[in-house]
Parts: sequence; C-alpha cells; structure tokens
Amino acid sequence: MNASGGSALGPPPGERRPPDPPLRDARSQELYARALELLPGGVNSPVRAMGSIGREPIFVSRGEGAEVFDVDGNHYVDWMLSWGPLIAGHAHPAVVEAVAAAAGKGTSFGAPTEAEVEVAAAICERVPGAEMVRMVNSGTEAAMSAIRLARAATGRDRLLKFAGAYHGHVDGLLAEAGSGLATAGIPASPGVPAAQVAATTIVGWNDRQAVERALSESDFAAILAEPYPANMGLVLPAEGFLAFLRDQADRSGALLVFDEVISGFRVARGGAQEREGVTPDLTIMGKVIGGGVPAAAYAGSRELMNRVAPAGDVYQAGTLSGNPLATAAGLATLELLDEAAYDRLTAVAEALASGLRDVAAAAGVPVHVACTTGLLTVFFHDGPVASYADAKACDTDAHAGFCRALLKRGVYLPPSQFETWFPSLAHTDAHVERTLAAAAEAFAEVAR
Ligand SMILES: *Cc1c(COP(=O)(O)O)cnc(C)c1O
Repeated sequence: MNASGGSALGPPPGERRPPDPPLRDARSQELYARALELLPGGVNSPVRAMGSIGREPIFVSRGEGAEVFDVDGNHYVDWMLSWGPLIAGHAHPAVVEAVAAAAGKGTSFGAPTEAEVEVAAAICERVPGAEMVRMVNSGTEAAMSAIRLARAATGRDRLLKFAGAYHGHVDGLLAEAGSGLATAGIPASPGVPAAQVAATTIVGWNDRQAVERALSESDFAAILAEPYPANMGLVLPAEGFLAFLRDQADRSGALLVFDEVISGFRVARGGAQEREGVTPDLTIMGKVIGGGVPAAAYAGSRELMNRVAPAGDVYQAGTLSGNPLATAAGLATLELLDEAAYDRLTAVAEALASGLRDVAAAAGVPVHVACTTGLLTVFFHDGPVASYADAKACDTDAHAGFCRALLKRGVYLPPSQFETWFPSLAHTDAHVERTLAAAAEAFAEVAR
C-alpha cells in the first residue's frame, strides 16, 4: 500500500499543472481506518478499495460535472463517474432538480405512479427489444430476474455466458469455466453452491466454435451476453458476432439475453442492440436508467414479459422498485440524451483515445486503446484485445502504476485494468487536455 496515498490538488481544467503539488490525504486515511473496523475492507463494493492498483481508497466528498472532490480537498477529473450511471456528470442541475422535486412529494409509495409509466414508455420507445418493462433496483437483480423469466419461458435451466462478462453477483452467474473440456461452471466465489453454477456454461467471447459446440451438447434457456462487454475492459464484438448469437439462439431454442447495464442508453439511444441491429429476446438495463439513483430494469416482448407476475406466473417483486427518486433521475437523464449528446459522447471518447495512443507511443509504452461512444479502455497490452484471455495477458502492474500516477496528478479513472472509462456529457475539451498532459507524465513514469 502506498502509505502517503498519492492524491493531490489538481488545478482547474485548462490551467497548467503546478510542479509536484502537495499530497493531502490525512482525512481519507482517518476515515479509511474507521471504515476498516466497520465495513468489510472498508468499502461497500470491492473495487472501490483500490487494492488492485496497490493503494488505499480515496473518500469522496462531492462531485460537480466531470470533477470529483475528496475529503482532503483534492479534486480530480473523473472518468469513473460512479461506474457508468452519470452519463451527464455529477449533480447535473436537471437531474438534481427532478430528484428534489420528487423527494418533496414523497420518496416511496409501494403503489403505482405516473413516472413509472413514463420511464417504461421512454425505454420502449428507445430500445428495439423492449415492448414491456419491469423495473428493479440493481443490475444484479435485473439479471437474476431476466434469467428466471428465460428459464420459465423455455422450460430449460442451463445458461451460456461468456468468459470475462459480468452480470452482477447472482449465484448462477458467479461462475468460472471449469478446466479442460468440462462444460459445467465452477463457483467463482466461496458460498456459491456448485449446483448453482453447474447449470452455467462459459465460453470465450468472440469464439463462434465454442458457442456452437456448447449449444450442440446441451439445451440452453439463454445465451447471456454483454453486447459491448465492458467488464474485462472494453472488448467489442467481432464483426457479425452478435448476429451469429441471434442466429444460434433461434436455431437452438435458447433466448438471447443482452445485458445492456453499461451499454444501454450510452453507446446509442437504443443501446448496442440498436447500433448493431441485433434484437435480443430480453434486455437487462441499469446504471444510466437510474441517473445515479438505484434503478434497473428488464424488458422484452409483450408475450415474454406478460409471464411476469401479476400478469403471469413468474414471481418477482420489490418494495422500492420503480422508486420515485429513481424514476425522476432516470427520466431527467434520458431527456438529456439527444442526437447531439451521442455525437459528443463519441467525440470525447475518440479525442481521449487518440490522445492516449499518442502520449503512450511517445513514452514508448505499448498499449491497446479500445473505444466507442461513451466508453474507453487503455489495455497495457502489445496487440489487439479480443477476448478475456487477451485482457488477462495485460501488464496489470503497469496499469496499476499508471492509475496511481494519474491520481497523483488529479485524474481519477477506474482503478482496475478490467474496467472502462466513462466519457460523459460533462467532460470538456479542457478535461481531455488536462488528462492527456497528466497521462503523458504517467506513461513516462510507468516506462521507467
Ligand atoms: C454493473 C453491471 C451489472 C450489475 O449491476 P449492479 O447495479 O451493480 O448490481 C450487471 N451487468 C453489467 C454489464 C454491469 O456492468
């Protein structure tokens, strides 16, 4: 662990960075020491602890647009943005206003509201595969519920998923590929029953033969995929791979389930499925749909969704589902996402990606920068990254050093090689420039 913490006061965007800014982390250290006594690992979700980049967590006090401030008064350009929900940046005035107005009228009713109908309509209007929607509270819950529905609809139990994909911490999906030719998954965590993951088969992303082989060996309820996988870093589908999955699902009688918790409303108005022209049977959504307040959803055809209780026999419920604060934040966020917004999300990601390639090359650090609208990953890898195996071959020590060096220079990025940066509507050209200036130094530090 880096005892001095390494967080530092950054200058406002666009200004020259002063040499060797002072390190301030006394308050973060104090809170972390207390948190370690009260929360496992000091955090409420593992990667926040920053263990994978070999330092201690930074305690945040507030965010504004594309910047975040810590409890010691340091501030950072934030490319992590709560891991995806904040596509409009921190505390966007329209979102804050909508949430405040909703809160003033009551924070939960456990009875239907107009805003829930509006969110469902907004989703169905945008997402090709969505005719009806059920809202839940987290991506994990949405994945769990969509799987239940897929199993009910097909009368089959087995799931096909891809190595390196993440669909939340659902028992049956916390699976790793067994060794050798074994098709049954093995638990990826203690506490996950072997029986739960025995019905999960894991194959390599972009590996057509493995998909065909698995489908020929067993009957599957669902082929579950992040259409733009972003939890092993960003690893885009090979040309035609999503259409291939659609075809394989149809031939085998499995449902095609797209987990668009990250890609939904981000890579295009209607998500990756709209952009790629491949419509799944069920769609899992989260993150952006809650605009930074806990919300998620699953959606599909009228026929499939009408199997969900109380319309149908597949049970699924939630005390806070369709919560008024979440629907307000989600609707306000969706309203900001017009055509110009997607142009901007593309332009920021591309400017950042090409700039990062340049400064990495200048420092002599081999990287592969993957990028699409609103998403980017810097892989410390010499060559293309098309699978989880490629991603795992990255130099994670170099990535960790790069992260620490950027944090010191007032740039906050997801503290893991296997995550994506989240360019947003709040990032300005000045934020990109400031990031590139810091990255040039950070790459040079890593190259040493
Ligand atoms: C974040 C994520 C989830 C889990 O969502 P939570 O709200 O954290 O439970 C599921 N699928 C994907 C693709 C995600 O990125």
